[in-house]
Amino acid sequence: MDMATVKSIFKDDMLSGKTAIVTGASRGIGAAIAHRLCEVGANVTVCSRSTESVSQIESALKEKGYTVNAMAADVSLKADVEALVKETIAQFSQIDILVNNAGITRDMLLMRLKDEDWDAVLQTNLTGTMYCSREVLRPMIRQKSGRIINISSVVGLMGNVGQASYAAAKAGIIGLTKTIAKEVGTRGITVNAIAPGFITTDMTAKIPEDLQNKILELIPLQNFGIPEDIADAVCFLASDAARYITGQTLQVDGGMAM
Ligand code: NAD
Repeated sequence: MDMATVKSIFKDDMLSGKTAIVTGASRGIGAAIAHRLCEVGANVTVCSRSTESVSQIESALKEKGYTVNAMAADVSLKADVEALVKETIAQFSQIDILVNNAGITRDMLLMRLKDEDWDAVLQTNLTGTMYCSREVLRPMIRQKSGRIINISSVVGLMGNVGQASYAAAKAGIIGLTKTIAKEVGTRGITVNAIAPGFITTDMTAKIPEDLQNKILELIPLQNFGIPEDIADAVCFLASDAARYITGQTLQVDGGMAM
């Protein structure tokens, strides 16, 4: 399991007293986000589909002395999401930050795309983001504060061959982000998206090397990102420094989409 390897530049009490939920936190970008949020003082509920994978990240973070609550929750299932938020509030009494990070790919050219693969990608990536966001709104409105950070993708901005379902879901997340931002702006809640470019994780390890080299040519900074690049952007958007930013999509992509 990968844990944040690049030290945080943020103050270690930047989010102290805050509670966060990170979905899809068992590995990759989600694990780095959870680790970063812990490093800057937040209490964090980490979730992913299986108890086994989520308990690994839980023990790794607890070993470092962080306050962590681990839950197996499938974001595509409404009942799991309800339980996730309920349990977090029971454990930590509040919910300040939601990071909708869980996501899957089922890549195929549209002509051959199976309905069940389209449905699975939309249900996890887009509907899951909607379920989690909807569920935290009531407690955040009660608190008169909150941060929702949705992990989209440059693919949602640019499109990508073989990724119709993924691109549609990630573009949908941007529309959803702007809409929630408008609906709850007066309640002290900000809602933003991050659009990562190519970040080295299990998800991108599936991409053949020749295709990876072609992608590299499209990146002005000429290297792939690491999960901590996304985790740092999440920390910024969750911090007071981002209090006047809402409805935005922050691209963290080495200049790939511009
Ligand atoms: P990953 O496959 O390494 O990890 C995905 C995580 O989501 C895992 O913890 C997995 O268990 C969890 N997950 C999947 N379905 C779930 C569900 N239904 N309920 C709960 N958890 C679920 O992927 P990653 O590369 O770390 O990507 C994380 C996020 O960043 C995804 O939303 C992905 O689309 C997005 N993203 C990644 C890249 C990249 O280059 N890696 C680029 C753009 C966007």
